[in-house]
Amino acid sequence: LPVIAIVGRPNVGKSALVNRILGRREAVVEDTPGVTRDRVAYKGEWLDRRFTLVDTGGWEPDAKGIDASVALQAEVAIDLCDVVLFVVDATVGATATDEHVVRLLRKTKKPVFLVANKVDDARQESEAAALWNLGLGEPHPVSALHGRGVADMLEAVFKVLPQVSAVAKDEFGGPRRVAILGRPNVGKSSLLNKAAGEERVVVNELAGTTRDPVDEQIELGGKIWRFVDTAGIRRRVHMQQGADFYASLRTQAALEKAEVAVVLLDVSQPISEQDVRIIDLVLESGRALVLAYNKWDLLDDDRRRYLEREIEKDLHHVAWAPRVNISARTGRHLEKLVPALETALESWDTRIATGKFNAFLTELTQQTPHPLRGGKQPRILFGTQAASRPPTFVLFTTGFLDPGYRRFIQRRLREIYGFEGSPIVVNMRVRE
Ligand code: GDP
Repeated sequence: LPVIAIVGRPNVGKSALVNRILGRREAVVEDTPGVTRDRVAYKGEWLDRRFTLVDTGGWEPDAKGIDASVALQAEVAIDLCDVVLFVVDATVGATATDEHVVRLLRKTKKPVFLVANKVDDARQESEAAALWNLGLGEPHPVSALHGRGVADMLEAVFKVLPQVSAVAKDEFGGPRRVAILGRPNVGKSSLLNKAAGEERVVVNELAGTTRDPVDEQIELGGKIWRFVDTAGIRRRVHMQQGADFYASLRTQAALEKAEVAVVLLDVSQPISEQDVRIIDLVLESGRALVLAYNKWDLLDDDRRRYLEREIEKDLHHVAWAPRVNISARTGRHLEKLVPALETALESWDTRIATGKFNAFLTELTQQTPHPLRGGKQPRILFGTQAASRPPTFVLFTTGFLDPGYRRFIQRRLREIYGFEGSPIVVNMRVRE
């Protein structure tokens, strides 16, 4: 999906605009300044156009660092998104901070829309017009609060988006798209450099798009792979505050573009909450997953035993993900990454014919019927795979299945079909 980012100083109405575009009434969860929030990307839909909206306002700077923080938001947005909506408060006019951000935004080839907010009635339109002098083109006057002008503004945005998402056209048949994820310092850029350095970098810039070159195509194991968002990995952004927020934003935006994620873990460090959170974002996104345990060269026997215990404890829920033990520094086992990616993607693409799936369900329910509940027993009438990428199943039942029984079905599905490296989803439709 195309990614739209909203950038602007505090109090210009970014949250209100996010809510307005997403069609939500209530405010986004109230944020304490500096406190990070996990959800920063939202799925939106506007007149049948689907997109991802990234709210960089989830991280508001403290008073002394406004310039730096908003500049960082802008950089993040340029890095990760297809279109930037730069919001200015028309009742205040352009401030020094706004002008500072504009200088950054003008460096990108990506489309930037100047949104003049708080234009609540026609009389204020002249204030919006004054923003022409920011040099970002025509200001789009809106009232995020009342909805005025928002439809026109989005229409202009979507006129530009088709060209932008031309990149997505090679989704089918083109190189498969891989996101390299992991917390700072796990070795993402080292891995990328090793992969790109030893093999041939086929294309650096993807021509013919308005997108800044953020992806790289690299030949590995005789095939070309598209590593998404590599510019963001190579260009390291340092910051005191908001590092988690930035990382989470990057992870979600990269997942949006990827089909499979390689999550890097640093074996010289304990598995952290942040590692688990990144893996959970992959699961939430429904992308295929490979786990790469990096810095294997640093491992001694004691740490190794401890690592295996940690994996059993903290990563048990993704035991189905292919695992590679690598060293980005020495190049150890990097060649194993390709078969792992292939396996994960194959599982992700899998389709099981309806007949076969129902034979599986019949056998399963005969061997292990759903436990009786108040003398009654919910039955599975029929099942079908509704989608792949990831495999998504729908069960038509005569009552709600117990969570335990649903997990049992998932386990059996994995036992029979594998699905190594792919999440699977089992939904229910209850017919009373
Ligand atoms: P990123 O923040 O995830 O991109 O991490 P970097 O690739 O910048 O790596 C962080 C640090 O870990 C650097 O000092 C690397 O040299 C080091 N590093 C990366 N991979 C390995 C590895 O396999 N073994 C060892 N010993 N060090 C590594």
